[in-house]
Amino acid sequence: MLFILEKVQNVVKCVSDAGVYACARCGSHGHENDACCDGGVVVDVSKLRSLSVDESKKIVEFGSGHSHGQLYHRLSTTSGLVVAGGTESYVGTAGLFLGCGRGLLSSIYGLACDNVRAVEYVDAKGELRIASAEEKQDMYWLARGGGGAFPGIVTSFTVQAYDEPKEVVVTKCRWSGTERKEWEVIEAWSRVQGKFTKRRRKMFSSVKIIMNEMTMLEVYCFGCDEKEREYYEKEVRELMVSVGEDGGARRTGELLDGTKCTQSRQSWLEYHESSDLLKKGGMTANTKNMRKKFSTYTGSVVLDTWEVNKSTMERMIEWVMEEVEEGMRSYVTFFFYPLGGEAVEAVAPDATAFPWRSCKTVLHYKLLWRQTKKDEKEEQARMMNVKLSEMVDSFKTKQKFYNYIGEHVEGEREREEWYRSYFGYNLERVQRVREENDPAGVFGNPSRLPPRLTKNS
Ligand SMILES: Cc1cc2nc3c(=O)[nH]c(=O)nc-3n(C[C@H](O)[C@H](O)[C@H](O)COP(=O)(O)OP(=O)(O)OC[C@H]3O[C@@H](n4cnc5c(N)ncnc54)[C@H](O)[C@@H]3O)c2cc1C
Repeated sequence: MLFILEKVQNVVKCVSDAGVYACARCGSHGHENDACCDGGVVVDVSKLRSLSVDESKKIVEFGSGHSHGQLYHRLSTTSGLVVAGGTESYVGTAGLFLGCGRGLLSSIYGLACDNVRAVEYVDAKGELRIASAEEKQDMYWLARGGGGAFPGIVTSFTVQAYDEPKEVVVTKCRWSGTERKEWEVIEAWSRVQGKFTKRRRKMFSSVKIIMNEMTMLEVYCFGCDEKEREYYEKEVRELMVSVGEDGGARRTGELLDGTKCTQSRQSWLEYHESSDLLKKGGMTANTKNMRKKFSTYTGSVVLDTWEVNKSTMERMIEWVMEEVEEGMRSYVTFFFYPLGGEAVEAVAPDATAFPWRSCKTVLHYKLLWRQTKKDEKEEQARMMNVKLSEMVDSFKTKQKFYNYIGEHVEGEREREEWYRSYFGYNLERVQRVREENDPAGVFGNPSRLPPRLTKNS
């Protein structure tokens, strides 16, 4: 482990002397090639997988090379603890935690970054440093929400952990593409989020629309006791009634006949093992298995309300449907998540680099296509991404979530506006911390990072 740490330090020193860029890569799930620096050196941290647990304080220190599956698996089997990270096993912990990370447990414990107590990192001179509330406070601030703009290579995170939920109850309801229930489901979902994101409810729910194929509503309850479970069942039934399902008037059990909804009750670990995109293997496999199989374009907007503008959303759905019918054989998926509600709002907007604490909904779209050697689909997908990002931008609020970083932009002014949508009024501080801690600009590709401060700012 020490040996690998030293290697990271030596690479940074060497890169810095040679005057080229360095950038870190953990799980390779960053969108828009976020972990890349053209002409520079990519430092892969995936072998940094140390783990130590203080069980009495439930504080976990983990190497930044863990994927979520690896970390969830190790914590579950050694101490029964969990961290408030992301939903999918293959995603790297470093990228997700640095970007503030939302997940299944955000409404209970806040965003991933809200639980970070310290980070260990290699700075622009190749020195090993710690950033926390006590030392290097600016870097600690930027490590919570700065994402790829963090000017250093994080080697470990120290994080508040929690007892793993004893049971994960999930109800999944599906409508086929031909039923065209997208809008009813989004509307019904948005109406209940104010209740569902209350900490004491221990719930999470999301909507996923896979174009032409299906709309899926998921409602979770984590470690709920009998009373909490009763509330959960009642809410699921009412939700289905408001989507217009006759079955909703019946008991949930009768709804779960497998045609519309199914329900499962599993342990935290079983849930992850069974629900992963690529099924088994994600919990322990090296993230390298996942690399280069798919290409994606992505974009997001965080809305300050639960309500999504109906006409814009319908226009997006219609337009994507047409494109799909015309042969653009990529998957276009829209996700609707709650940002986290009261647990996320409890942190001040300037306490971390992620400012949009009072936002309610994260609308995230993703274009996914299988890579081929001669990638003809790329240009088609790029055009579609431009159009989708214009549509998403037409929502009044221009606030975004770093982890679902969108299309690459050209031009200094456009880039500043684009970064403003991720960091808001925190942008100047992001720039200042970067400049103070990496004056020579060792970390990162200039076309991917916030522009430098202008003289007057
Ligand atoms: C299938 C899928 C599911 C997802 N689910 C969620 C989710 O549930 N919640 C959520 O919030 N996000 C989610 N995301 C988004 C994800 O959190 C971001 O894409 C994140 O940046 C991925 O991190 P990574 O380490 O896998 O990626 P990488 O591409 O390796 O890194 C992403 C960024 O972090 C930087 N970075 C990586 N490691 C380090 C390090 N050690 N030190 C400094 N910088 C580093 C990279 O330079 C890059 O800028 C998902 C993405 C995908 C593709």
